Amino acid sequence: MTMGSSKVHVLALPFPAQGHINPLLQFCKRLVAKGVKVTFVNTVFLSKSMHTDPKRSINFETISDGYDDGDYAAAESFEAYVEKFATVGSKTLADLIMKLEDDGKPVQAVIYDPHLTWALDVAKQFGLVTAAFFTQMCAVDSIYYHVYHGLLSVPLSDSPISLPGLPLLQPNETPSFIYLHGSYPAYRHLQVNQFSNVDQADWVILNIFDKLEEDAVNWMARLWRVKTVGPTVPSMYLDKRLEDDTGYGINLFKPDSSLCINWLDNQPKDSVVYVAFGSWIGIEAEQVEEIASALMEIGFRFLWVVRALEKEKLPSNFVDETSEKGLVVTWSPQLEVLAHESVACFVTHCGLNSVMEALSLGVPMVAAPQLTDQPTNAKFIEDVWGVGVRAAADEKGIVRRETLVSCIREIMEGEKGKQIKENGIKWKTLAKEAIDEGGSSDRNIDEFVAELISGAGQPDA
Ligand code: UDP
Repeated sequence: MTMGSSKVHVLALPFPAQGHINPLLQFCKRLVAKGVKVTFVNTVFLSKSMHTDPKRSINFETISDGYDDGDYAAAESFEAYVEKFATVGSKTLADLIMKLEDDGKPVQAVIYDPHLTWALDVAKQFGLVTAAFFTQMCAVDSIYYHVYHGLLSVPLSDSPISLPGLPLLQPNETPSFIYLHGSYPAYRHLQVNQFSNVDQADWVILNIFDKLEEDAVNWMARLWRVKTVGPTVPSMYLDKRLEDDTGYGINLFKPDSSLCINWLDNQPKDSVVYVAFGSWIGIEAEQVEEIASALMEIGFRFLWVVRALEKEKLPSNFVDETSEKGLVVTWSPQLEVLAHESVACFVTHCGLNSVMEALSLGVPMVAAPQLTDQPTNAKFIEDVWGVGVRAAADEKGIVRRETLVSCIREIMEGEKGKQIKENGIKWKTLAKEAIDEGGSSDRNIDEFVAELISGAGQPDA
């Protein structure tokens, strides 16, 4: 449903990483389709380095994170990056809002990633409507919320954790920054601190859909005005209502698209194991070796994404020795890959976007979570949604070859694999229904847009 043309102009600010940009950009495309004008804000560095789709309905602008010639790796530490981004980002975001005003394109609302808490403060200074766009599962948000408010004590004890609306969680099913107390303190702070000022936001938006986490969403809706708007996967893979929305449109790495798809076209139906660990985490060299050994041993065809920076971790003879049955690329067009009929199984690090993509396309997963929210996502994949199996890591945090082999076999050939595929079909249908006309997410987006247009939710002028 289109809400008719309107003058509402929204500024959208993601955290500058692929996994954060993708869902917010997709939400913005839905807003545009419903008559909202959107300006999407990237950092100067990313806007210089990203590969974009030329056909787009969204305006792009930039602010600075203080590192215009290099990403956060250019900073002295992640902590230093976050601090500088807060200072320089606040100033340049305010400048951008004023520039748009001067250009006759005033902004009425800011949708910001709550990892950038300062964006809310800037928006408030201008009296704008604010929406915090969370990019993690509601369960993960809930865990961090409880930690932030001292309602879940850390370090965790060995006992299972019971939180409202969530299944009972073992300590190692919480985010790694929580159960591995003291690990990556700057990242942990960024996550937990999302809740420092969210009470002041007019809206909380989640990139999942209601049925995935019904109880957790109901719990959260008691705290804030919550809207689920997912899955935030391009429309052509779900409801097909947004013409031309075949991909996210921004790639921080250049995909080997024709290489991947030509190769997949030549493989039999349901024969390929796709392995990818997202855009961001560095994989331990030992883990790369274990995956390589598993793929060599197992005999199935495979497509494996090993990012350029990680390639040196591959055993030196691996690519040559497996070229008959496998392909290694540095970045894939992941959605096209998951939608391809030759792909039967996805070995994933369980980044939420990858999980939502596989779930929306009904591809069974072998969950090999590494860090951050991934262990919690993996818990839901296996135990709540039943769309995959978890490959358990050993005490060093490495998933061993034998475990990978047995999990992949389970999906490709086992009895459990059949049930998982059936569950996958169910969730694929529910995902499409949620975002399709009249579905829960579609209605939520309509309500959000209607209130933006009517000015409801706006703070008193
Ligand atoms: N992705 C891709 N090609 C690849 C690997 C990943 O296009 O070879 C995309 C993937 O489709 C997803 C995003 O990058 O949308 C990664 O986000 P996710 O949340 O899965 O993981 P993160 O990168 O945040 O760890």
